[in-house]
Amino acid sequence: MNSAEYLKNILEAKTGLKISIELTDNRKQILKITPDKPDRKIIEINRILVDAPDEVIEAVTDFVSGRNRKSSRTRIIRYVRKTLSEKTQDRKINLHTSGNVYNLNDIFEKLNKKYFNGSLTCRITFGRNYCNPRKRSIVFGSFNPQKNIIRINRALDSVMVPEFFVEYIVFHEMLHARLYFSGISAVSMKHSKNFRAKEKNYPFLETAKKWKKENLKFFIRTAK
Ligand SMILES: [Zn+2]
Repeated sequence: MNSAEYLKNILEAKTGLKISIELTDNRKQILKITPDKPDRKIIEINRILVDAPDEVIEAVTDFVSGRNRKSSRTRIIRYVRKTLSEKTQDRKINLHTSGNVYNLNDIFEKLNKKYFNGSLTCRITFGRNYCNPRKRSIVFGSFNPQKNIIRINRALDSVMVPEFFVEYIVFHEMLHARLYFSGISAVSMKHSKNFRAKEKNYPFLETAKKWKKENLKFFIRTAK
């Protein structure tokens, strides 16, 4: 991740000016240049631009130094629009991590550290109670790779459900996330041999499967 200091250093090197940077959240004026002294400029810049990829940083330095003003301006605006709209889409997913009984963030962090070297970046939330009484099936968890999000059926947030079972469902979905992003996506969404082998890393796997078999009927009966 870049910092304002990093950007300041690049700008000073490219323009030969003294630069002072102020980060803003201003969406209307994403970049404002105010001459201070003859060899000094104050740059007010939306913080989104500080973390931008190199090509956008290059456009910023071009713009500040007055080179290719038109094309660099276009590149900056295109990037900011895209990033702001992605952030807005992100916000539309409301995460419900803290239930009445279980906190999904705590479970996720614990399992991520213990079994995935802290490498997983997905988000997690309680979601709808997906259940089909006619098919006598219920979806306890799912992983959406496009949104990089794990959804856990809200029915599991109950004192009747043991912690090892909630953990098992979360672990199972985390494994889908892990395998999906490991470059073998063609088989990763299914329960491949590799998946089943890795699933055995969870020490309460058999206990959890047994519990599921004995208790599935309660979930299907109570689901609305
Ligand atoms: Zn699965």
